[in-house]
Parts: sequence; C-alpha cells; structure tokens
Amino acid sequence: MALRFFNTLTRTLEEFTPVEPGVVRMYTCGPTVYGFAHIGNFRTFMFEDLLRRYLKYRGYKVIHVMNLTDVDDKTIRDSNAEGTPLAEYTTRYKKAFFEDLDVLHIERAEHYPEATTHIPEMVVLIKKLLDKGIAYRSGNDIYFSIAKFPDYGKLAHMDLESLQAGASQRTTSDEYEKEQVSDFALWKGWDETDGDVFWETEIGKGRPGWHIECSAMSTKYLGNHFDIHTGGVDNMFPHHENEIAQSEAANDEKFVNYWLHAAHLIVEGRKMAKSFGNFFTVRDLLAKGYPAVAIRYLLLSTHYRASLNFTFDGLEGAKSAIQRLRDFYENVRTAGKDGVASGKADKYVESAKSQFIEGLDDDLNISPAFAAIFDFVRDVNRLIADEGISKEDAQKMIAAMDGFDTVLAILKKEEVLLDAEVEALIKERNDSRKARNFKRSDEIRDQLLAMGIVLEDSPQGTVWKKKL
Ligand code: AMP
Ligand code: ZN
Repeated sequence: MALRFFNTLTRTLEEFTPVEPGVVRMYTCGPTVYGFAHIGNFRTFMFEDLLRRYLKYRGYKVIHVMNLTDVDDKTIRDSNAEGTPLAEYTTRYKKAFFEDLDVLHIERAEHYPEATTHIPEMVVLIKKLLDKGIAYRSGNDIYFSIAKFPDYGKLAHMDLESLQAGASQRTTSDEYEKEQVSDFALWKGWDETDGDVFWETEIGKGRPGWHIECSAMSTKYLGNHFDIHTGGVDNMFPHHENEIAQSEAANDEKFVNYWLHAAHLIVEGRKMAKSFGNFFTVRDLLAKGYPAVAIRYLLLSTHYRASLNFTFDGLEGAKSAIQRLRDFYENVRTAGKDGVASGKADKYVESAKSQFIEGLDDDLNISPAFAAIFDFVRDVNRLIADEGISKEDAQKMIAAMDGFDTVLAILKKEEVLLDAEVEALIKERNDSRKARNFKRSDEIRDQLLAMGIVLEDSPQGTVWKKKL
C-alpha cells in the first residue's frame, strides 16, 4: 500500500503523489512570535516534524517552509503593551522558538521566511488582486471580495447560505469565527494604534493582513502550486480558506494539493491556548524536571488527527516508554558479542520494518508504528534471553532501530540545553569552585563538554561556546 494522507479539502484518505516525482514541497504555518510557543503549538509543530521526517524516510527530498508571523494584530498589541519596538520584541521570541525546536529535536525546515522581510512580495500580490477586480479599497484598507471567488468555503466545507448572509460584511481582524464570514483585510491602512509599525508602499501606508503573508511567502519559496500545506485545525478557517482564495484568485491555478490539519492539544477538556491562560511552555515543563524527550514522545504518540489530552501522568508514561527503548538499545549492543546467529533475527527485523511503514503510510498512524517497535523489543529481548544473538544480528537490529529513530528521534541520549540552563550550570560550577567542591565543578564541566559546550575561564569570568 502506498503513502496516504487525509486531505481536509476532500475529507478523504488520498494516495500521495507529489507534483514533481521524488520531491515534496510543503508549507506549514509557523508561530506568531508574541510569546513563548506553548506545547499546544508544539503539538502541531511536532506533527509537522513527523511528517517531514517520515517523507524523508520514504525517500523523498523535502523542501519545507515555515513562516514566522512577526507582524499581525497580536504582535503589535503585545509589543505596544510592553513599550518595546516590534522588531526587538519579536526577535526575543524568534530566538526562543529556535531554542525550543532544538531542545525538542525538531528538525529545521529549509526556509523560515519572516513576514516583515517579505512586504514587497505581499504588495505585488495585493496589486494583482486589485487589478483583477477581486480586491477593493475601503478608506485606506484593501479587502478581498469573497463574492468574487465562487470556490470560497471549499476547505472549511461551509454552507453557502451563511456565506451569502455574511458576504456584505467586512472585517479587519486577523482572526474571526465561521459565523462571521466576511470580506477580509489584505492591507490595513495605518492608524494610531499601529504606532511606528507601517510600511510606505505603492498601495499606501500600512501593514499586511495575516492571511496574505502566507500566500505571498509560500509562493515565493514553493511556487504557485505545491504539494502539502499544514497547520493546526484552528488555522483551517479563516486563515487557510483565505490563503486559498487569495492565491487561486491571483494565479488562476490550484494552490495546494493536500491540506493536513492537526487536532488540538487539550487540557481538562479545553484547547490549550495563550488566551485561555491554560498553557505550559516547553520551559515550564523542563523547569518541573521533565526531560525534553518525554515531551517529544508525548506529542508524537497520539495520531495527529485525534485530540491529545495533556496530563502529567502522560508525561510520566512517556518517560518510562523511552527508558524501555533505550534499555533495549543498550541490551542489544552488549548482547551481540558472542551469541550465535539465529534465523529469527532477520524475521523480526523485517516484520518490525514493514509494520512500521504500514502504520505510518496510513496517514501517519503512529500507534501501529510504535506497536511494531514494542513488539520487536519484546521478541528480541526474549530471543536474547533464550538463545542469544550474534554480532551481525545485533548490528541489523541496531540499524533498524536507528532507522526508526530518524523518524522518531527519541533514542539519542544527548540533550540540548536552553541557554538559560547552561548559564545556570555555569553559575553552579563557579559556586562549587568557590566552595572548593572541585568534584562537582569538574562534573559540571564534563557534563557540558559531553553536550558540546566548552567553557573558557578568564579573570573576567567564564564564557561558553558550542563546539561544532
Ligand atoms: P500561532 O502561534 O497562534 O500562530 O499558532 C502556531 C500553530 O499552533 C498553528 O498551527 C496553530 O494551529 C497551532 N495551535 C495553536 N494552539 C494549539 C493547540 N492547543 N493544539 C494544537 N495546535 C495548536
Ligand atoms: Zn499561515
């Protein structure tokens, strides 16, 4: 069976065929950098990591673009509230986002375009829509007329009557509900609340709407028509619906073939959201002593289209599952020294691989993929106990586990630390040295060295850098 995805556009499971054989072009809506991303956001980003890693495991070359929303209603609102210039404010959270990606072993995308450095591309697209009579001006704003795009509503599967009822309305908000379907702002003419956030352009002084950002940036890096577009399910309407409208109306071409949406991470029955205040960041959980890899495992281990209920018990469960897998990995390594070859090893390896692929080929169904691994662990542990394994057997088993781990990234022991954690360890080392506890201070130096962090002491203090 071939690789299949559930396409939100058609609400069916479809076999995956990329536009260009062997290459996948995909776009994922990235973070709005107005605060630390929470683990609900990372649920979606983790699904996207699984998707890109699995596409690579299946032999595709992946060109993945994730934008950074660094100008929109929320970034302006919160940077103003803090009295910090927008660029300085968003830079802080961009840096934090990349640190969190590394800590969670989320593989880097090929491109991370920022909205604020792609304003000219957005202006070109808006002009095109104006020239075609699909966009119109109202005061200093420019709106998309949804009545001019007959396919409007095809992604969210909205009923046309409610669309027609709302079609005469206009909104300048980036976010709104299905019930408030309306013409939406492509360009927002400057007003006082924007402060010094504006661009002087051919279409006026102002700033882009959120939706046009993704249409312009995806086209720039992936072309008018590409393979996969993803996001959390809350992005489906209005954001993705509006992206389709803008791009297809401007280019007269199909925008995206496969739309994939991750269900929400929920806490006590409610979506985790910054606005509800019911959220944990990666940093919150690390501070409580949970290893990053447990967060990774927890976010990965529920199928992306099922809601994931976050609990601390779940995190504990993730910790033990990882321990079991890591113990197994070591067990195989040490067992394969002097045993004799057994015909069973090949059979177990082949069956684990084929079940792993069968599971993930089915719309990234992670449960059978994990079941394949845990069955393998059980069978091999029994084999080691009963008969022993040869060095060659062990190598094949390790190679299979390494292969699975290119997709899951949970076996590797090396941890990435946040800058703040490195600083805290350095402080502890300096305090230990002052207290003449050299055993502890050496331990910390070695721990950091094992993570590729080198310390340099000087009379001015200790500086650190990452070894390449
Ligand atoms: P934002 O930073 O708000 O633009 O969101 C970044 C990504 O996180 C988007 O794809 C959202 O759909 C997704 N997202 C937000 N909250 C959740 C949640 N509770 N569970 C899963 N995904 C979420
Ligand atoms: Zn987007």
